[in-house]
Amino acid sequence: SYKASLEAAARFLKQHQHFLVVNHVNPDGDATGSLLAMGWLLRQLDKQVTLVNEGKTPAKFMFLPGADDILNASERAEHPTYGTIITCDCADFARVGEVAAWFTQERELLNIDHHPTNDLFGTVNLVRTDAAATAEIIFDLVKHMGLPLGKELATCLYTGLLTDTGGFRYSNTTPYVMEAASELLAHRVEPAAIAERVLESITKAHVSLLQRSLQTLELTDNDKAAYLTVTLTDLIETGANNEDTEGLVNYGRNIEGVEVGVLFKEVADGKVKVSFRSRSEVDVAAIAKSFGGGGHVRAAGCTVSGTIVEVKKAVSQKVSAALRECGNE
Ligand code: 5GP
Ligand code: MN
Ligand code: MN
Repeated sequence: SYKASLEAAARFLKQHQHFLVVNHVNPDGDATGSLLAMGWLLRQLDKQVTLVNEGKTPAKFMFLPGADDILNASERAEHPTYGTIITCDCADFARVGEVAAWFTQERELLNIDHHPTNDLFGTVNLVRTDAAATAEIIFDLVKHMGLPLGKELATCLYTGLLTDTGGFRYSNTTPYVMEAASELLAHRVEPAAIAERVLESITKAHVSLLQRSLQTLELTDNDKAAYLTVTLTDLIETGANNEDTEGLVNYGRNIEGVEVGVLFKEVADGKVKVSFRSRSEVDVAAIAKSFGGGGHVRAAGCTVSGTIVEVKKAVSQKVSAALRECGNE
């Protein structure tokens, strides 16, 4: 049961002294908020903690308390290895990326996550797939362990809830999410300042990319599918980074009548990152999973080898089939 997994997770935290906490590659607000929240939680328990991500933490999350302490694995040729690991918001082991090299062979791992595609890769798995965010599960853990909510911890958890619910708009915005958010706000979280930084602010590079990618918009399957493309050249010429492409896929999905929005982003020569968003019917996690990725029913992704043209052909066939299965022509 979930209660037993909370108990097992609490035991895991009490049993060990030094933890390496990691989140997924190209971290979002939930991944970063959850990582930092675990840092605050463990320090409260007088534990030693090292926080790491494969890459750099996105600039828009650097205001989060403790963000300066997150190590960037790709910047370090040499690093220690750790035997006690906590993964946050990672559906499978591959999501930790190059940080895997920081783990010892016989490592013990606590897997905290909410993705339906989570494959329970941990020694201990704290996974609840109807949670809106990994931050919601850490909120449960705080409650279960009877720990106090400081402003820092509350701010990190609130940011995870806010971003993974799309600003409390997606269907995962349950009464429990609102109760948790309410309690977090009571601990001096500043909702306007956080929303301004993580939801409202966009970079110049993002706008330039948006300009270019909207010109690639293609509607197929009776305007039920919307495809957008970003090439390596676009990324280089606009000076965009990973962060700057976030949200582009929504422009396709948000068009009236569109059920599935897809963004193809060339991340290297012969390598395409595909982002999927669906409105209400198509299970895009299943499509992403068939290409080795995963995610949620309404938001998923994968990275596929091939040119944009090749990947687009393979993906659009699956999208068309999924639309037909849902009764769309
Ligand atoms: P995005 O399209 O914004 O990168 O990702 C949307 C959702 O899909 C996120 O919840 C993310 O966790 C998941 N996702 C994206 N890429 C991958 C991937 O390569 N593998 C898995 N398992 N999940 C992914
Ligand atoms: Mn995430
Ligand atoms: Mn999440």
